[in-house]
Amino acid sequence: MATFNFDLCVLPPEAETLREEVRDFLRVELAQLRPEQRARSWGGFNREFSKKMGAKGWVGMTWPKKYGGHERSSLERYVVLEETLAAGAPVSAHWVADRQSGPMLLNFGTEEQRERFLPRIAKGELAFAIGMSEPDSGSDLASVRTRAEKVSGGYKVNGTKIWTSNAHISDYCIALFRTKVVPDKKHEGLSQFLVDLKSPGITIRPIYDLAGGHHFNEVHFEDCLVPDDMLVGKDGEGWKQVTSELGFERSGPERYLSSIQLIIELIREAGKEPGERAAVTIGRLTAHLITLRQMSTAVAAMLLAGKNPYLEASVVKDVGTSFEQEVPEVVHALLGTEPRLNSGTQFERTLGYLVEHAPSFSLRGGTREVLRGIIARGLGLR
Ligand SMILES: Cc1cc2nc3c(=O)[nH]c(=O)nc-3n(C[C@H](O)[C@H](O)[C@H](O)COP(=O)(O)OP(=O)(O)OC[C@H]3O[C@@H](n4cnc5c(N)ncnc54)[C@H](O)[C@@H]3O)c2cc1C
Repeated sequence: MATFNFDLCVLPPEAETLREEVRDFLRVELAQLRPEQRARSWGGFNREFSKKMGAKGWVGMTWPKKYGGHERSSLERYVVLEETLAAGAPVSAHWVADRQSGPMLLNFGTEEQRERFLPRIAKGELAFAIGMSEPDSGSDLASVRTRAEKVSGGYKVNGTKIWTSNAHISDYCIALFRTKVVPDKKHEGLSQFLVDLKSPGITIRPIYDLAGGHHFNEVHFEDCLVPDDMLVGKDGEGWKQVTSELGFERSGPERYLSSIQLIIELIREAGKEPGERAAVTIGRLTAHLITLRQMSTAVAAMLLAGKNPYLEASVVKDVGTSFEQEVPEVVHALLGTEPRLNSGTQFERTLGYLVEHAPSFSLRGGTREVLRGIIARGLGLR
């Protein structure tokens, strides 16, 4: 039977040197950020901060220099990401493109697309959204119905994308559309496109979350013309491309650090001499966090070595998001603190934000049930 393999990874010295540089930068840049704002972390969107990250050379770090990248190792990139997330930095104005849209273009884009988009992404100037889910296609992504019909000069798009995070404040979106209907073969006839979100024919409507926040959207296309040169990769090869894109977003520190601000606040609240229950809880959460980090860095090292650790990456996402969801529950059970949204102490508000958002941690990027199905198949159990 297939099994998991997590080789321990020791980060190289240059990554640890970089860590200090990143910490010093963040200490200054985020000095005014309150814990409840830091808890938003990779939901946070701040173009000025993203440009500063770009100026530091911390966006598109691993990409070739000729496309504005810095040819640094993926383990150095890992350190930048883990430090920015642990500090609660607002990364999403650059990070979606850094994590997946940019690598997509590197892998499948034309030379012209790479030259046009990658340098601006690396400067932190371009924000990307992800246009995969549709009202009837989430887990079953291959059933997308938004049509991109070939016309003179491009493709005419009609349909609706949903849950498109930050589409209302982003510049572009990489979207999956159906360019051909192949009866009984839903994985065929799909294609990926770079879409300028300001194009005529696009209407972006807000969807408000449980806490009243607006980051989700419904993106409606009505006879929207997407030019030929915005097709990414080959017409009809979208499924193969999109599944490789999903692989970019499974096992990074974003899959176990979403509740870190609450752990930090718990430690602060417990003080220098915590009671026994608090000490045990903090010790247990810390042990879990360190183990998850070792699993996640092991996957990063396997990717660097050219292996394909998709099973291990899926396990990190499953166990990591379960941990992220457990933290607010454990803190509430330990201290009885009331979760609050717009009143109360910083601690109560940080807890309030995470209680409201934790359910989504195991949905975004593919649900827990679907992930477990992938793991079971990989182990030969189904
Ligand atoms: C915070 C957040 C941000 C998001 N941002 C984006 C974004 O920017 N762009 C984008 O395209 N999408 C985004 N999504 C959408 C996300 O990818 C989907 O919500 C997710 O893929 C699930 O799809 P669905 O909501 O249609 O649920 P469904 O697929 O309808 O699933 C409903 C339930 O059925 C279960 N289920 C479905 N199929 C199976 C199966 N085969 N076996 C077992 N159980 C199954 C699921 O686990 C789930 O519990 C985001 C979601 C969240 C929560």
